[in-house]
Amino acid sequence: MTERLRLGIVGFGKIARDQHLPTILNSPEMELTAIASPNASVDGVGIEGVSLYLTLEQMLEASPDLDAVIMCQPPQFRFAAAQAALLAGKHVFLEKPPGSTVSEVEHLKFVAAERHLTLFAGWHSRCATAVARAKLWLAKVHVHGGAIRWREDVRHWHPNQDWIWAAGGMGVFDPGINALSILTEIMPEPVRVLESVLELPANRHSPIAVRLKLATASGALIDVDFDWRQTGQQTWEIELDSDHGNLRLTDGGSRLAIDGQLEVTGIDQEYPALYHHFRELVRERRSDVDLTPLQLVADAFIVGRLSSTANFDY
Ligand code: NAP
Repeated sequence: MTERLRLGIVGFGKIARDQHLPTILNSPEMELTAIASPNASVDGVGIEGVSLYLTLEQMLEASPDLDAVIMCQPPQFRFAAAQAALLAGKHVFLEKPPGSTVSEVEHLKFVAAERHLTLFAGWHSRCATAVARAKLWLAKVHVHGGAIRWREDVRHWHPNQDWIWAAGGMGVFDPGINALSILTEIMPEPVRVLESVLELPANRHSPIAVRLKLATASGALIDVDFDWRQTGQQTWEIELDSDHGNLRLTDGGSRLAIDGQLEVTGIDQEYPALYHHFRELVRERRSDVDLTPLQLVADAFIVGRLSSTANFDY
């Protein structure tokens, strides 16, 4: 491996452009060498010297000196690409969710371990500003109940994303899994799915809204409300009641209040934190693949009761 980590991005859409690109370009320890995307174009993003390819295969063949590949394509296409990159000897960073199924990511873990390569499943919301403090606070209390409200406007956040409505795209779990990634990070005990109701528009293959009842190992119940039909003010909050007071994480994990008193707030540095961790993992040839949030989504589909709802069109 060269001094600077030589990276290739696969899937040059919103998250690659908004977060991965600036994070890589701002780091002296990383270099963006290549991009592979079906309609590859860097028009309007102001980068030079980066090779463009239509497919990962072309990128791997033409840029054999890549150290790692960053997977930012829709989750349905993640597995085949990640496996090909690992088989070509590259370290792999998986955007969230790390795949469309739990078993395919287990498969990738196996391939990476056999080759002593790094596989990293990045959960960006776990790096939100107030999450670490929330985890510290919860380690000392006993939670007896709570609620997660993750309600946003799909028309605003996911315009023209057909993949998100297709099988394997997860629908409202695409943002909802961020809440589950935070919950499973901050809770000192395991959480399981007791009940699930999935609201499915008649013309779509993935849910527009989901209600879950989760239970902690010690029996606390957490109600989950994921909804994509919220207009106006958007809501991304986790509230937990404990024997030492009420914890409220809002703005997707950026703000923490205890008993109504603001404890932490600040601008998120989620992607710099993810890349810092990825570089450490590559340096130490370790993997970090926590599948707990994806397992909860899978369980919600397994026990879920389907409820048909109105057609959804943009
Ligand atoms: P997006 O804007 O729809 O971008 C996905 C890109 O993937 C498209 O630009 C498309 O490239 C490319 N693509 C489609 N099929 C492909 C294939 N078979 N092989 C390679 N590339 C392919 O979606 P996004 O919002 O960036 O989301 C991508 C992933 O990041 C999702 O898993 C999502 O959950 C995650 N994520 C998104 C956000 C966010 O705020 N949007 C935040 C965190 C994580 P072309 O444009 O070249 O056709």
